Amino acid sequence: MRYVSTRGQAPVLSFDDVLLAGLASDGGLYVPQTWPSFSEDDIRDMRALTYQELAVRVMGPFMGAAVTDDELTEVVEQAYAGFSHPAVAPLVQIGAHDWVMELFHGPTLAFKDYALQVVGGLFDLILTRRGSRITVVGATSGDTGSAAIEACRDREAVDVIILLPKGRVSEVQRRQMTTVTSSNVHAIEVEGTFDDCQALVKALFNDPAFRSEVNLAAVNSINWARIMAQTVYYFWAALQLGAPDRSLGFSVPTGNFGNVLAGYCAKRMGLPIDRLVVGSNSNDILTRFLETGTMQSRGVVQTHSPSMDIQVSSNFERLLFEVVDRDSAEVERLMAQFALTGGYTLDSALHQELLGLFRGFRVDNDATLRAIAELYAATGMILDPHSVIGVIAGREAGHRDTGTPMVALATAHPAKFADVVEQATGQRPALPGALSDLLTRPERRAEVANDPEAVKALVRSLSRVPGASA
Ligand SMILES: *Cc1c(COP(=O)(O)O)cnc(C)c1O
Repeated sequence: MRYVSTRGQAPVLSFDDVLLAGLASDGGLYVPQTWPSFSEDDIRDMRALTYQELAVRVMGPFMGAAVTDDELTEVVEQAYAGFSHPAVAPLVQIGAHDWVMELFHGPTLAFKDYALQVVGGLFDLILTRRGSRITVVGATSGDTGSAAIEACRDREAVDVIILLPKGRVSEVQRRQMTTVTSSNVHAIEVEGTFDDCQALVKALFNDPAFRSEVNLAAVNSINWARIMAQTVYYFWAALQLGAPDRSLGFSVPTGNFGNVLAGYCAKRMGLPIDRLVVGSNSNDILTRFLETGTMQSRGVVQTHSPSMDIQVSSNFERLLFEVVDRDSAEVERLMAQFALTGGYTLDSALHQELLGLFRGFRVDNDATLRAIAELYAATGMILDPHSVIGVIAGREAGHRDTGTPMVALATAHPAKFADVVEQATGQRPALPGALSDLLTRPERRAEVANDPEAVKALVRSLSRVPGASA
């Protein structure tokens, strides 16, 4: 399997190079040259598989010769060994046609573990084979940082440096990063916002000399391997609900468009998905786009679901590439227009075509609190403020009354957002066993100035890539 950039100007790469590259050199995102596809019989044959076996079956075709089935099996076994639920991603029924898939049973209690644990194992495999090292640098508004740290801790060939905005992540989220004692892990606070942290990381990636000096690698969802690993749980849910003989819809609380894009990929691979609902909070650029055909960014507002407080959904570019029939010049034109003016409008026939599959629905803070309380009263289930947006959006924008199942993805454990959940329900969810002493563990805190040169100097000093600390 080979990979091409959505902007058409970067070299065509193999899976292992894409894994380590992150962003393409032309500013685009890598996607598979062709979609692997499964027939109905292939999908029927998946019904008896465990989550881990299914992961190998679904991800294998994306790797080609870069990773053997035996190697992939080993990576997958290790990735999910620490998950706290035997089903890995359990489905819970909450209505006649409504289901919740719990994606918060990994080590950091958010869905990002499901992909990043695999990515960490693949880093190890490829780097050991090549005898090389990478330096992972990422910015986080909360969940990505801890999931990346858990995925990369104690890996000999990887150093991981996460920039977090000081005082702007929850105490649980900060402690999930600062209490890890592994010597290859560095959570560094920045006096500033998440956008400042993100801008610092971008500045590093935009310096080609620095990038190669420390072998800089990415763990946010511009990394194709994350999307690939997320397609697995769409298959997992669909198989349990009757695929390939019955179609279904998914509803996804969305920020950077990575998770819902994985649903689109699963459809392209043959899964009978007939509706994908994009759930937004008040940062509703995608919902407005689906309503109007115009992508128009506005300022970010803080909400009860901070991991969705995003105005530029990077991964949408991968869907755009498909929508314009893989015309990379057209993607380039629209993205340049967006960079220049903060907006673009999709051709109306293409917009209509998108509405054949996608719908958007926006849920503000008050509706989020009400929905958490109502769901708790009706079913006893406590969902976090991100997950509940998926449930509401699925009900409002799904196919009502058709009998087609709708699966809402639950993206975080309620204990990660205990204050909001307590405000809604009066119940304060406890951290699960493995994290129960998190609030008393010793922290290692460090800080860096909000200045690219200071961050580069720090990364050089922490990276073990030969020559970097010279
Ligand atoms: C990251 C995150 C999201 C958004 O996912 P995207 O793939 O960026 O759309 C939603 N909910 C939670 C809890 C998250 O951590």
